[in-house]
Amino acid sequence: MEKLLPRFLDFVRIDTQSDPNSDSTPSTDKQWVLAKKLVLELHQIGLEEVSIDENGYIMGTLPSNIDKEVPTIGFISHYDTSPDFTAENVNPQLVENYDGGPILLDEKEGIVLDPDYFEELRQYVGQTLITTDGKTLLGADDKAGVAEIITAMEYLATNKEIKHGKIRVGFTPDEEIGRGAHKFDVKKFDARWAYTIDGSELGELEFENFNAASAKVTFKGKSVHPGYAKGKMVNSILLANAFLSLLPPHEVPEKTDGRQGFFHVHDISGTIEHSEIELIIRDHDEEQFEARKTLLQDIVQKLKEKHGDVVDLEIKDQYKNMQEKIEPVFHIVEIAEDAMMKLGIKPIIKPIRGGTDGSQLSFMGLPCPNIFAGGHNFHGKYEYIPLESMQKAVLTIAKICELTAERF
Ligand SMILES: [Zn+2]
Repeated sequence: MEKLLPRFLDFVRIDTQSDPNSDSTPSTDKQWVLAKKLVLELHQIGLEEVSIDENGYIMGTLPSNIDKEVPTIGFISHYDTSPDFTAENVNPQLVENYDGGPILLDEKEGIVLDPDYFEELRQYVGQTLITTDGKTLLGADDKAGVAEIITAMEYLATNKEIKHGKIRVGFTPDEEIGRGAHKFDVKKFDARWAYTIDGSELGELEFENFNAASAKVTFKGKSVHPGYAKGKMVNSILLANAFLSLLPPHEVPEKTDGRQGFFHVHDISGTIEHSEIELIIRDHDEEQFEARKTLLQDIVQKLKEKHGDVVDLEIKDQYKNMQEKIEPVFHIVEIAEDAMMKLGIKPIIKPIRGGTDGSQLSFMGLPCPNIFAGGHNFHGKYEYIPLESMQKAVLTIAKICELTAERF
């Protein structure tokens, strides 16, 4: 366990920012630097079947140490960091025995991690926090997950009295640009189920995410000199406005939470001749999700009836709620929940208002709930993680392996 912290600090100092504008996998060459290091680490802690493919997907095996047949399970995390914020020269800061007060990250710029704003900081009084120096993100998302999985495998390999079946680990590039699961070889991974260690605060356990689609609405206008436009001009900007006014005004991200779905208009552009609106549709409930798509079609139909063939709607499905793939194998959630409770961690089970790699993997045949890695304020300079939460993630992983062996 003592290697957990140095391992994590080592990983975050390597810049692995991914890039949505690149078509290669990994999307950035610099991700290879950490990828190669991870392969070495897996060898060093004695894992078997260690592999890395041409896309930077890393796998390894901790062999079973019992005679009976138990299901192979896996743990997955991603080693890239978000394109939203720089990861160049990450300089992690250690705050030991945290006193509950404001933490000065960057004196010159006056960047402060303040518990008056980030209230959850107060629950970590007395613990060791790892923060940024206010200039970069930290990369606990998800190098904490990577360090925790490696340390848990090392922990199991050393504490041989803990009995477990075959355990697979997987590290992926490019999760932050939505491609972490795309080239994941589920067949080669060959586990009955897995967990992504990519959640936030201590105790998080997630197996429901949004159903997601994107939509693009195009409006065709007719430009005529405004002085002579009566009865002739069609202003596509006003058509776009008419469309927006027909969307339910309260079903937007800023007015919803929990399991409430929404429409989110995130881009609009227009001239008299041509306007475009881009929006996303999100809902946990499959039926409601479909109803939202139908509503968009109805609105477009209404506009067509009034103005003619001037509107075009294109809807693309993005990802689906993994719940339908998890329900039939719900024991995999229960094992994680039990593992946490046995370690005195209160499970926090809530629907994800987004997607995870696990949702895609679940539909690729590898049911995959998400478990906390321990960090807060991902994707920015206020990102931090308590060392104690990381240690508990390690123990949770080990306990899940142990309980799986006990129950099968
Ligand atoms: Zn992540």
